[in-house]
Amino acid sequence: MNITFYGVRGSTPTHGEEYLRYGGNSSCIFVKSTDGSPYLFDAGSGIRKAGRDILKNENNKMENNKSGNTISSKKIKLFLSHHHWDHILGFPFFDPIYTRGYEISVYSGAKDGLRRRKMSWEESIKKELDVSVKSKSINSELRRIFEGQFDKREGYFPVSLDELAADVSFHDLHSNDTVNSPLTVHHFLHDAHPGGMSTYRVEENGKSFVYTGDYESDFQKYDVKFGVIDKKLISFARNADVLIMDGQYTLKEYEQKKGFGHSSYTKVCEIAADAQVKKLIITHHDPSHTDDILDAMEFDAKNYMNLILGKDISVVFAREGMKVAL
Ligand SMILES: [Zn+2]
Ligand SMILES: [Zn+2]
Repeated sequence: MNITFYGVRGSTPTHGEEYLRYGGNSSCIFVKSTDGSPYLFDAGSGIRKAGRDILKNENNKMENNKSGNTISSKKIKLFLSHHHWDHILGFPFFDPIYTRGYEISVYSGAKDGLRRRKMSWEESIKKELDVSVKSKSINSELRRIFEGQFDKREGYFPVSLDELAADVSFHDLHSNDTVNSPLTVHHFLHDAHPGGMSTYRVEENGKSFVYTGDYESDFQKYDVKFGVIDKKLISFARNADVLIMDGQYTLKEYEQKKGFGHSSYTKVCEIAADAQVKKLIITHHDPSHTDDILDAMEFDAKNYMNLILGKDISVVFAREGMKVAL
């Protein structure tokens, strides 16, 4: 599989000449399986270009192979880490949703929604049963969130969800759910961000990567090296080829932003080292971090991993357009 970064910025998109090398679009990762099937992780502003590239590639493929023997890329699976603005704001500008013939399945953890709606116990049990069949339930918690984003009456957007040309379905996931074929996508809900967040482990042909979305290490709560949540993540990410993780802050910034839901890059290096991953890619860069600041943070993170922790794990800060082949 091939991974391409379309958005590496956290909290809000940003722009300006001091952000050109790392890029200013918010979270979005595109993954192509060996057979060409398209997967996306998060729908920040980066998904706009990803959508345009998907359509362009599909059109080129049709032009080049009129016999129709190619694998269709029109079935797109989109997995969300959570529903904060920086992770969903690009979705209304994702061109395949306005294109007939596309089937777009959107997946995300349901925990936040279940909490917010304050369902009764009986209701939540019923909900569990409903979503466990993984139907493209119009009662999906996730669909309700996107109905809000596409709410014409409130004036948030001029198109409603029902008017989209593509077949868009929404699927609530619970911990330990797996979505198969052609990639295997394991899902786990973590309490490492306000409202909770979904973590994904993606596997194909013995290769794997883990994507955490926004993640705050919980070690400080327990005054130990790793907290309970960290330990779960370490076990989930064990021996992955690549760990893609939120390391938004320096250690000094983290001290002022405890509880904001993000980790320092040094703590992320420690988690990667303990999980024994082969490569760590740090993303969700702070909007105030210019290219020069990110260069310095990356240099420091590499030294921390190699010299302080003594691990031969490659550390890279994600850049828009960066590609990783697995
Ligand atoms: Zn975020
Ligand atoms: Zn968030």
